[in-house]
Amino acid sequence: MKYNRPDWHTYFMEIAKLVSKRSTCLRRSVGALIVQNKRILSTGYNGAPAGLKHCIDRGCIRQQMKVASGERHELCRGLHAEQNAIIQAALHGVPIKGASLYSTHLPCSICIKMIINAGIKQVFYCDGYADMLSLELIKESGIILKKITIKKGEASKASRKYVKT
Ligand SMILES: [Zn+2]
Ligand SMILES: [Zn+2]
Repeated sequence: MKYNRPDWHTYFMEIAKLVSKRSTCLRRSVGALIVQNKRILSTGYNGAPAGLKHCIDRGCIRQQMKVASGERHELCRGLHAEQNAIIQAALHGVPIKGASLYSTHLPCSICIKMIINAGIKQVFYCDGYADMLSLELIKESGIILKKITIKKGEASKASRKYVKT
């Protein structure tokens, strides 16, 4: 019998991708998970604060002003996926010190600063993001950064290797 069982990185990253589908950002859909001991503690996607109008409902100033990717985040009313994941943990009193963060995209420099102070120690991401400061801060902080590549059929391929995990 052949198992079609994803390894842990694939499992969490595919969940992060599913979470990103709830995004209300006009420019990029991002999903993030905070994970500890193979358990999901918190999730987040990018969008406006709870109960407020989203960029998909009222337009986004960054879009209207044609702001380049990775710049002038403060103009958008949305929170980033990583921020929402950290806030959700705080809201429910869930400790995330020492946890790992999975994000569909490399966190921006604002999120990285929060990730550092939240005590998150590993960051796994799928797609890159144009933010040089972010990479500099990650390097300096000692956070372990790893790009996870998921190709079609990767889950089933990985399962043969990691079937015992
Ligand atoms: Zn926006
Ligand atoms: Zn961010």
